[in-house]
Amino acid sequence: MKILVINSGSSSLKYQLFNMETESVLAKGLIQRIGIEDSFLEYENGSGEEIVIEKDIPTHKLGIELLLETLLSEDHGVLEDINEIEAVGHRIVHGGEEFAESAVIDNQTIKKLEDVADLAPLHNPPNIMGIKVCQELMPDKPQVGVFDTAFHQSMPEKAYIYALPYEYYKKHGVRRYGFHGTSHGYVAQRASKMLDQPLEELKIVTCHLGNGASVAAVKNGKSVDTSMGLTPLEGLVMGTRCGDIDPAIIPFIMEKENISAAEMDNILNKESGLLGVSGISSDSRDVGNAAAKGNHQAETALDLFNYRVKKYIGAYTAAMGGIDAIVFTAGIGENSIETREKILEGLEYLGVKVDENANNCRGKEVIISTDDSKVKAMIIPTNEELVIARDTMELVS
Ligand code: AMP
Repeated sequence: MKILVINSGSSSLKYQLFNMETESVLAKGLIQRIGIEDSFLEYENGSGEEIVIEKDIPTHKLGIELLLETLLSEDHGVLEDINEIEAVGHRIVHGGEEFAESAVIDNQTIKKLEDVADLAPLHNPPNIMGIKVCQELMPDKPQVGVFDTAFHQSMPEKAYIYALPYEYYKKHGVRRYGFHGTSHGYVAQRASKMLDQPLEELKIVTCHLGNGASVAAVKNGKSVDTSMGLTPLEGLVMGTRCGDIDPAIIPFIMEKENISAAEMDNILNKESGLLGVSGISSDSRDVGNAAAKGNHQAETALDLFNYRVKKYIGAYTAAMGGIDAIVFTAGIGENSIETREKILEGLEYLGVKVDENANNCRGKEVIISTDDSKVKAMIIPTNEELVIARDTMELVS
């Protein structure tokens, strides 16, 4: 069975075509700058060959048409017939309270997604657009939605209610939802396999540390808390997002700087985090390079990043009444030896003993704690696309 996985953003669209018999990627690509000049499609078909097609791509529909053309192309395609694709799985950022699991998409699902779109105004509308275009271009193929929020729907009320007037929750759905759920769920499951212990008996803190970053407390296979909230802004320090701050700062700065709510929102989401504190870059590697040369703000940005993760690990250990494993994933978590080292430093009291040699590693599934470490620390590369493909296959089979 071949499944196409689509992650449709506002001006970009990522895709992967899976052969589910072997769970291998037959082809993958990225369309960039949709609706903007100089748009292009990058495509890889498993032969190691990378193809770039520069073409005017004014709409998502033309983008998806182009990606289907490349999959079918005589020169570098991997399909002979479009009907080889059995179903399409879509990444959807916000499923609100409606979706605690992946779902086959019908008109009612689209209506529900449109109803929660104002909770993720930057993400859900392009996600919905991707679905509608696929329905139009492949009308007889089932479409499945896989939600970033779904895994965290198991959080108890005490973890998801904000201490605001309760009516805002009732009227507007203002509560904590959490994101990166596909990733947290996947790495927790892999951790249980690597440790050869049932997921239902494990207390795991999963640290998804990328440009967007979040931590989750996964107890007995279920998310019981996570650091992102109503939106992906809450929690950890991220590439450009501030994470947790005193909410009173917002009106204070708006007044002092005479800026609008939209401008403030932009500052919190796009100009803060590693970028805001370092004044250098949102990319942790650039910040690391500057810190190595003694740049104080860059050092502070990284210290803040690591310290915040460490605090969440402590908080979630308390929330779960113990901890068996800490998992690192995503760009920084999988690749930055120093970040993992700094986060785990001082957690010996919890029972974490780092194996320095094992930690000297990037992007591989590996246990980085010593054999006698009570709490296991591990690196597990995430694979959200595979989860989307698996869920899609399960729902359409
Ligand atoms: P993601 O959003 O998961 O793609 O992660 C992006 C982040 O991962 C950026 O801050 C990168 O600096 C970081 N990253 C990627 N590769 C490395 C690496 N080899 N070492 C350190 N950080 C890395």
